[in-house]
Parts: sequence; structure tokens; C-alpha cells
Amino acid sequence: MTWRWYWGDLHSHCSISYGHGTVNQALARARQQLDFCSITGHAFWPDMPTDRSVYAEIIDYHTVGFARLARNWDKLLARQAAATEPGKFIALPSYEWHSLQYGDHNVYAAGPDLKLVDAPDLPALREQAKQQGAIVIPHHIGYAAGYRGIDWQHFRAEASPFVEIYSLHGCSESEAAPYSMLHDMGPRDAGSTAEAGWDLGHRFGVIGSTDHHSAYPGSHGDGRLGVIASALTRDAIWEALLAQRVCAATGDRIDARLFVNDAGIGATIQAPGPRPIKVQVRGTDALDRVELLKNGRVLRHWWPDGNESATVSNRHRLRLTWGRGRKHRPVRWDCQLSLSEGAITEVESCFSGPPVVAPVTQIGDAEVADDSVVDAHLGRALMVALLAEIPMADAFRVAVLGLTHDHVWNNLQELQASGRGTLVAAADPHPPLLDQVQQLHGCPVYSDLEALLEREHFDAVYVFADNATGARLAELAASRG
Ligand SMILES: [Zn+2]
Repeated sequence: MTWRWYWGDLHSHCSISYGHGTVNQALARARQQLDFCSITGHAFWPDMPTDRSVYAEIIDYHTVGFARLARNWDKLLARQAAATEPGKFIALPSYEWHSLQYGDHNVYAAGPDLKLVDAPDLPALREQAKQQGAIVIPHHIGYAAGYRGIDWQHFRAEASPFVEIYSLHGCSESEAAPYSMLHDMGPRDAGSTAEAGWDLGHRFGVIGSTDHHSAYPGSHGDGRLGVIASALTRDAIWEALLAQRVCAATGDRIDARLFVNDAGIGATIQAPGPRPIKVQVRGTDALDRVELLKNGRVLRHWWPDGNESATVSNRHRLRLTWGRGRKHRPVRWDCQLSLSEGAITEVESCFSGPPVVAPVTQIGDAEVADDSVVDAHLGRALMVALLAEIPMADAFRVAVLGLTHDHVWNNLQELQASGRGTLVAAADPHPPLLDQVQQLHGCPVYSDLEALLEREHFDAVYVFADNATGARLAELAASRG
């Protein structure tokens, strides 16, 4: 059985409640760049404010959106079921339950069916969900408790195996995390972060999902989740979610694996003795760094050596963007791309939709209501990332004559880093300098410059002797061709 990461977005909205764009557009776009998704309908808000003198607009668009979802719920389930094709794409049903007191939660089921049921409070919502085999997942948890952020005292991991920590709303991982909250619902609160939850002893996984409101599941950069599953089927994805084999990503598909005593992400183990930790990370681009955290602190970090990858790999990631068209008008792009040397080995689309969470936007509903408009991205720039294998020219064989000039060490380091040349030998009359070059680069050394010229074959020389000797050496080297 092969276990691998599958990538999805479990939280995105469209005009089925109060977002923009249609369900069909959302599903078509999801299939362009995700393995699985859920089109979430805004459904309930038991403690919605009632003061119309202040909140009339908020009350109205929620009420209208909730009613629209209720009218179209069966249609939403049917469209997601129809879009599901085991091995290719899975769509799970979900709806959103807002709460000032408990924080916003989404209800998910393996599907294809899920009953749309309200509850007066979170314990009741959990009970309803349990009866139909569903889970209840908190999101944008980092807002303050009481203002639609999480209130950890009410959290129950058996109903909520993971929480959504990254979306358009920002990152709720920790107080110091990058990607601050949107602020339209207040700043990030230290007591509402995932780290605060772990500190309290709760045990849960974390996911990213977009919370996109314009029919764009998986909008690149706005949040995605990975699950480690044995197959792309409804049952396998659902099993992975319940087993907490999940991760949060902003957009790129980073293959990160962690094992403690050979137990992987999501596992619970009893290990009183030594606990060997294995970390494997493969990015789709050069990695900036890898951090291993334990109890909220960085236990260890790695800074992958960019120089090393330059010498051993001729794989390159290219990002191509194009756009934009006329604002508010769909544009059909018809582009062709080829590489004259090398081969494109992988293409990863990084398409994104307009980052709007408010129900009223500058994009008119009429313009996105046409289901046929899927690939046209409303005048936004599009981006794909390519992985290409580009053949490298044979490396130059380089000899260095003279080591007295201080710049020599930087130059030799750069030569090694570039992968374009190999140092084959060095010559200098000073033994300490020869020791140094041998230690750093492990090449044959000569105290006699002419002996090097006699015995070694090379394509180029570096001359780093003092200036007077340097000129003579350059001549000598040139005379040897
Ligand atoms: Zn939402």
C-alpha cells in the first residue's frame, strides 16, 4: 500500500449562501488543482446579534444567505456527489455554524449525505454531528474567545480531531506566527492560538483551508490541507482525517514527514525510553528552513544548503505568471510554453481567486453567475510553477596558482557552489596555505608551481599570487595552452 499526501481545501464558499460564483465553478476550479474539497454553505448563527440599529446589514446578508443554502442544500449535496470520482477527485459535504461564544465551526461528513441541522450551542452541535458520523471543526481560531475565535475550555478532540489554523483570515498557529489576522474581526489573541490549546493539554491536528468566498477552492496562498492517505477515495480520505494524518499549508505541496519511534503524524504512542525522531521534507522549491518543534519551542532547525543543491541538481522551479485582463471581465488565455533545452517534468498550477471575504464586493454577481466561465479568472494574474530538468554544461577543471591573495578562498567557495567547475589542483610555496586548501577542497597540492603545470590537466587557472608573481604565472599558464 502506498501512503502519500493528497491535497485539498475543506472550507470554501460561493453563492450557494452569501459568497460569489457558482457551485459548478467552484467544483471545476477545485478539480484543476486539488485532490479533494468541500464546498461549504453558511448555515446557522444561533447567537447572531439582534440590534438592527448597529448590525442590520450583517443580520440581513446572513439571514438571506442561510435561507438560500437551506433551499439549495439537496442540490449542493447532489453536485458534490456527482463531481466525486474515486481515484481522481473527492468532494465532501459541509456547512458552517457561526458562534460568538464558541467560535465558528464547520460540520463535515464523509458524505455523500449530511443533514443540515442547527444547534443552540456547541455541545448540542457535537451531539447532532455524532449521530450522523460527522465531525465539528473550529476555524479562524486565533480571534478572541467571545468574538468568534476558539474558547479552548469547550474544545473536545473526539468531535474535533483537527482545527483550521490557516486561511484567508490569517494564521492562528501561535502568537508570533507570520500572517496576522484580517482584523475585521479583531487581532490575534494569544489565548486562542493552536499553541495555547496544546499548552492546555488538548491533542489535535492542524489544517489549512482557504475560507474563500468567491468559488475558488484551493486558491493558492490562501490555505490548503494535506492528508496522508492510502488512496484517493471517500473512505480513505475520511479515515485519514479522523486519524489526524493532516497538515496545514499556505499553498505549496511540501512533502513533510515526521516519525517518532517509527510512528507517523497523527499517531499516539507510549514511549518511556529513548525516542528517535526522523524528519523528511521535500519541497517543490528550495526550502528556506525546517524547524522541529516540541512543546511550543524549536527543538532543532535545519538550514538546507542552497549551494549543495546547486552542485548536485539540475532541477529548477520556474514560476510563470500572466495577466491581467480587463477588470471585472472574464478573459480567456490561450498560451503555449516550451523549453528549448531541457524538459518540463512537472507542472503545478497556483491559481488563485480574488481574496474577498465580505459578501459585498466590486465583482458583480451577474458576471460570475455564468457557469461556463471557469478558466477565465476575472482579470487576475495566473501562475503555474514548473519543475524542469535543464542539462548542465560539463564542469570546468580549474587549477589555482598562488594562494597568498585573500580573495582566493571566496572564489574557490563560489566555484564549488556554482557547480560549474571543479578544483583539480593548487600550487603555492607556503605550506600552511597548502594545508588549508587541502582541508577545504581535498585536491592535490604542489609547492612548486611549475610541477603543477607539468602534471595536471585543466581547462582554466585562477591566479592568486602576489601581483608581481601573478603576472609571471599568468604568462606561464598561457604558454601551456
Ligand atoms: Zn467560512
